[in-house]
Amino acid sequence: MALVPFDDRDGMIWWNGALRPWRDAKLHVLSHGLHYGSAVFEGERAYGGNIFKLREHSERLKNSAKLLGYEVPYTVAEIDEACKTTLQANGLTDAYIRPIAWRGSEQLAVSAKLTTINLAVAVWAWPNLFGNDRMKGVRLGHAAWKRPHPETAPTASKAAGLYMIGTMSKHQAEDQGFDDALMLDWRGHVSEATGANIFFVMDGELHTPTPDCFLDGITRRTVMSIARRHQMKVVERTIMPEEMANASEVFLAGTAAEVTPVRQIGDLHFSPGPITERLLRDYEALVMMSPEKVASLAA
Ligand code: PMP
Repeated sequence: MALVPFDDRDGMIWWNGALRPWRDAKLHVLSHGLHYGSAVFEGERAYGGNIFKLREHSERLKNSAKLLGYEVPYTVAEIDEACKTTLQANGLTDAYIRPIAWRGSEQLAVSAKLTTINLAVAVWAWPNLFGNDRMKGVRLGHAAWKRPHPETAPTASKAAGLYMIGTMSKHQAEDQGFDDALMLDWRGHVSEATGANIFFVMDGELHTPTPDCFLDGITRRTVMSIARRHQMKVVERTIMPEEMANASEVFLAGTAAEVTPVRQIGDLHFSPGPITERLLRDYEALVMMSPEKVASLAA
């Protein structure tokens, strides 16, 4: 399927409080967000008309901005409404939702205290990050870039600037014929893929790296609670790259990736297995439930 450029589509985009035609949702080239990486964003999915864990995403957006030193000028409830309004305005029930906040063009320098903060929300159909036939599994190469120390970057923020090394790592992996890249952190510990967290099944237990320098994903936390409901032991810990050979199953978890089995990491091969499939199916069932039911299960 040919890619339709994102600026050549029809629809409505929510922009600072009102809906505007998709094609008119343009910003000035001298925007601080573009030059100095001051944007923060979210990635959400709607299933059957409900945005999964919307409140958590809106809260994370506010918090990502705070970590970059600014306040998104809308409440969490207003951001929730903006996402729902945009979904409806585009006539979609199953879609990817992208809220983004950025510093505007009033001032263009490292110091940006006079900029206003903008918020836009776009939605589009995006079936799955890695395509169909999910149980086949994806192949990860090794990234040359490392997730930075939390004192060198605001690693808990879903900040646009942190995706610079993600894009470079993903491009390198794709050039080598892989689907995505496994990133280590600054210490050489296993961290995550370029846009999703990673899990390993080891001796029937679920192991995942401690998120101390990368995003503690909403899908990651959801999968952990599903596994605990199945009485599986869930272990968050430091995972060294050489331990990955001990895993019987490996999978990624993220809003865009959902639960996606991994069949290869560099020279290591894995078979997508029953534990991954169970968690994948349970995740698929959970996202279809009403927000009230999802909240009651999380409590
Ligand atoms: N890590 C990175 C780098 C991501 O971009 C994402 C996707 N937002 C995740 C992890 C997973 O986060 P979530 O489950 O909240 O989508």
